[in-house]
Amino acid sequence: MTAVLKEPLISPAVAQFLAAPKRMLINGKWLGATSGKTFDVKDPATGRIIAQVAEGDREDVDAAVRAARQAFDVGPWQKMTPSERSKIIWRIGDLISKYTDELAEIESIDNGKSMVIAKLADVPLAADIFQYMAGWCTKIEGKTIPLSVHYTPGTQYHAYTRPEAIGVVGQIIPWNFPLLMAAWKLAPALATGCTIVLKVAEETPLSALRLGELLQEAGIPAGVVNIVTGFGETAGAALAKHPMVNKVAFTGSTEVGKLIVKAAAEDLKHVSLELGGKSPNIILKDADLDVAIGGAANAIFYNHGQSCSAGSRLYIQKDVFDQVVEGVAARAKAIKLGPGLDPASEMGPMVSELQHRRVTGYLEEGRREGARALAGGKAVKGPGYFVEPTVFVDTTRTMKIVKEEIFGPVVTATPFTDYDEVVRDANDSLYGLAAGIWTRDISKAHTLAAKLQAGSVWINCYNIFDSALPFGGYKQSGWGREMGEAVLENYLNTKAVTVSL
Ligand code: NAP
Ligand code: MG
Repeated sequence: MTAVLKEPLISPAVAQFLAAPKRMLINGKWLGATSGKTFDVKDPATGRIIAQVAEGDREDVDAAVRAARQAFDVGPWQKMTPSERSKIIWRIGDLISKYTDELAEIESIDNGKSMVIAKLADVPLAADIFQYMAGWCTKIEGKTIPLSVHYTPGTQYHAYTRPEAIGVVGQIIPWNFPLLMAAWKLAPALATGCTIVLKVAEETPLSALRLGELLQEAGIPAGVVNIVTGFGETAGAALAKHPMVNKVAFTGSTEVGKLIVKAAAEDLKHVSLELGGKSPNIILKDADLDVAIGGAANAIFYNHGQSCSAGSRLYIQKDVFDQVVEGVAARAKAIKLGPGLDPASEMGPMVSELQHRRVTGYLEEGRREGARALAGGKAVKGPGYFVEPTVFVDTTRTMKIVKEEIFGPVVTATPFTDYDEVVRDANDSLYGLAAGIWTRDISKAHTLAAKLQAGSVWINCYNIFDSALPFGGYKQSGWGREMGEAVLENYLNTKAVTVSL
C-alpha cells in the first residue's frame, strides 16, 4: 500500500495565515517569545515546514499568567453579567462555524487529518461546545440548604451555597484534535468566569492561534484568554507549577499527567486530567455483524487511531471470530491513505516523525512477540509519516501491543467464550476511558455496560461525542470530566454561606 502524495492545493486564506508571523496571544497582544526563539511546524503528509512559531518559555508563561491574574482579580470578565459573558461565548461558536473551511484546512495541514472529516467533526464540535457552554453561564446556581443544627437551641439559620469561579486556569492540550481540545478546555472555563492560559501542543499550534484571533473578534477582553506556544518540558512545566495559577486542566498522556500532578502538588493546585486509554470493544455473536464490523473498524481507525478513546482491543465471541476479524481486516486493507487535504484520502499520516517511529516500533514489537498481522503491519515509505492500518491476531494478554496505548491505527483481536471471561479481559487494564459493546440483546448490553470499568460505554455505536455528555476516565485514564454539566465542577469552588436569623 502506498500513500498518494501529490501536492495538495492550499487556499489563499490559509496561505496568507501561514505566511503571517505566528506569535502568542498575551494580554490581548500578539507577542513573539521573550527569547526571540521560534520553532518549525511541519505538514506531516510531506515533512515540509509550513510555519515558524514563537517558542514561548518560562518568562512568556509568567507574563501570560500575570495577565490572566489581573483579568480575573480586577476585571472585566468577573464583572460582566452571566448574560454578557454568554453572548460573547456564543459568538465564538458562530465565528468558528463561519470559518469552518479555513479551520478544517489549517487542522488538516498541521495535524495530517482529513479536511473532509475535520469539517464534519472537529470544527462543528468545537463550535458546538462554545454554544452549549454559553447556555450554562446563566444557569450556574447554588442551593438553599435546610440546617438541623441541634447544639444552638432556638437559633434558626439560613444557609446557601455559591458556586464561584476557581480563578486562573492553566490548560495544556495535545495534538490529536488541536482545535477541539482547545474548545473543550476554553468553553467551560470561560462559562464559569475563569481566566485562562492555554499551552498548545508543539506539533499542532496553528488552529489555536487562528482561534485566538476569533476570540478577539468575538469580544473576549484582553488577558481573559492567553495562548502560549512552546514545548511541554519548558512552557508546559512552567505553567503547571506557576504559583499564581489556581487550577491545571490537562489532556495528554498518562505519563505526563503524573508529572502535572507532581508539579501541582507544590502548592496543591486543583488538577483535572484527561489521559490515555486502551479501550476494549466487545462483539457478541448475536450482534448485527455487518454493522459491528464497520463499527469496529471505525472505532480504531478514526483519526488514524490517534484518539484517546480508540477501540484498540477488539474482543470477539469465538463462534463469529473469523468472520468478524476478516471483515475488519478487509476494511483496513481498503482504506486509502493520503494527505488530509486530498478529498479522496481516507486516512492521513501520523502527526510526526516521532509518532511514526513509536507506532512502527509497536508493529515490530507485535511481530517479535508472536502476533500475526492479518492486515497492514508496516510503515509506508515516505515522504510523509504514513502507517498501514493494522489488525493483529494470535495475541496474548501479556503482549505489549495488547497492554500499552499505541496511539496509531493498530488493533488487536482476541476471541472469547463467555461473559465473565470478556469482562475480566476488558477490565484488565491500567486505563478505563471507553468501551464498546455490539449485541442485539438489550439485557446483555446493559448488564455488560454496568460491569465495564470505563467512563464512556457505547452500545452498537462508538466514538459518539456530544457537548451535553460527560467524557472522562476511570483508573489511570484521568480525573474529572470534560463536557456536559459535569465539566463545570472542574472550574468552580463551592462556598457555603450560613446566616443566623
Ligand atoms: P503528551 O506528550 O502528554 O503531551 C500533551 C501536552 O502536554 C502537550 O501540550 C505537551 O507539550 C505537554 N507536555 C509535555 N510534557 C510536559 C511537562 N513535563 N509539563 C507540562 N506539559 C507537558 O501527549 P501527546 O503525545 O501530545 O498526546 C497523546 C496522548 O494524549 C495519548 O496518550 C492520548 O491518549 C492522550 N489523549 C487523551 C485524551 C483524553 O481526552 N483523555 C485526548 C487526547 C489525547 P509539547 O507536546 O508541546 O511538548
Ligand atoms: Mg512533546
